[in-house]
Amino acid sequence: MRIVPINELELKNQTVLLRCDLNVPLAAGKISDPARIDASLDTIRYAITHGAIAAICSHLGRPKERMPELSLKPVAEYLSAALSHKVALAPDCIGDITGRMISVLKPGEAILLENLRFHPEEEANDRDFAHELARGKTVYVDDAFGVAHRAHASIVGVTRFLTNRGAGLLMMRELEALRSVTENPERPMAAILGGAKVSDKIPLIKHLMERVDTILIGGAMAYTFLRAQDVPVGKSHVEEDQLELARDLLAASGKTGARIVLPRDHVVASVAEAGAQTETVTEIPPSMMGLDIGPETVKDFVAELTRVKTVVWNGPLGFFEIPEFARGTLALGEALAYLEGVRTVIGGGDTAAALSHAPWAARFTHISTGGGATLEYLEGRELPGVKALER
Ligand code: AMP
Repeated sequence: MRIVPINELELKNQTVLLRCDLNVPLAAGKISDPARIDASLDTIRYAITHGAIAAICSHLGRPKERMPELSLKPVAEYLSAALSHKVALAPDCIGDITGRMISVLKPGEAILLENLRFHPEEEANDRDFAHELARGKTVYVDDAFGVAHRAHASIVGVTRFLTNRGAGLLMMRELEALRSVTENPERPMAAILGGAKVSDKIPLIKHLMERVDTILIGGAMAYTFLRAQDVPVGKSHVEEDQLELARDLLAASGKTGARIVLPRDHVVASVAEAGAQTETVTEIPPSMMGLDIGPETVKDFVAELTRVKTVVWNGPLGFFEIPEFARGTLALGEALAYLEGVRTVIGGGDTAAALSHAPWAARFTHISTGGGATLEYLEGRELPGVKALER
């Protein structure tokens, strides 16, 4: 079983259903960050320059029915400008009018189909809807890594009807990067884990405990681990129901599993608000909460990372949306970016949001475009969208 990359597919004169993740954030009807569209431009260009008729499809937001404010119209306009080539928007992703609009296109032209999720059948992976979507197309190309963990009609269902299928350039890049840190990665290997909740990351921590050498824990998650060691954490966010698990993991640390390293200093405040009075402490006072790792912890973590060859990073190490508490994440990111000879894969979602705009971000081996999909992949789970592409 293998996944055929787009460059091995015959595209000339073919009508290609091209599934992208063009789910960009909108503010007052305008695209506020086009990163997801930009990430798929190579694949779209590849398809049209190789003589395909590209019927591009995507979801946008979470509508359950047709909602004008979640139309892909701004995306069609952005694509037209970015490709210097008119990309019309079909009024629907299925149906006769859309079919007729596709049928008059010439090889080398593209059209964007309207939001897949205007039909609840998309998320339900409905067979008839998938059949309709596949109608009139001869090849299926999936470039939507960000939704590869969803068994939806445009991702899984369509592959039943379009057996001539393969992965786009972005999908291939994502899978290669993730494979490089999961299938026989060069050791030693470290994982950096942060984010809000231990409970969301249990499968990931358990999976990595058996596969990496060192786990560096920051973010709000760290306080449950510190509390489990009876370290005072003040008003920091602690998940009481995860203390037992944290104790078990700490007991296994460096013995039956990876060595866990916790923060030893913290940026604290009495409220998690911009402009709050902050302090850097080694012992968190009862009235304060930990909102970022401190500079000594950054030094400890950097020292650990200088010893490894492979790093995966999932979750910010502080409340990074507030600049006062983004410093730990950014300082560690910068140091890691300049370490020579280390393969570093950064998870999508919040981790990418925290790091990807920094000037040194391009130095990482890979920053994923998928949040949930990357997390599930790193947990060792099979992604339905990847499985469906195998042939
Ligand atoms: P997750 O989706 O689990 O990766 O969590 C990301 C969220 O965790 C982001 O919104 C961060 O701001 C938040 N976060 C990270 N560290 C902290 C902290 N020390 N206190 C509160 N929130 C945090």
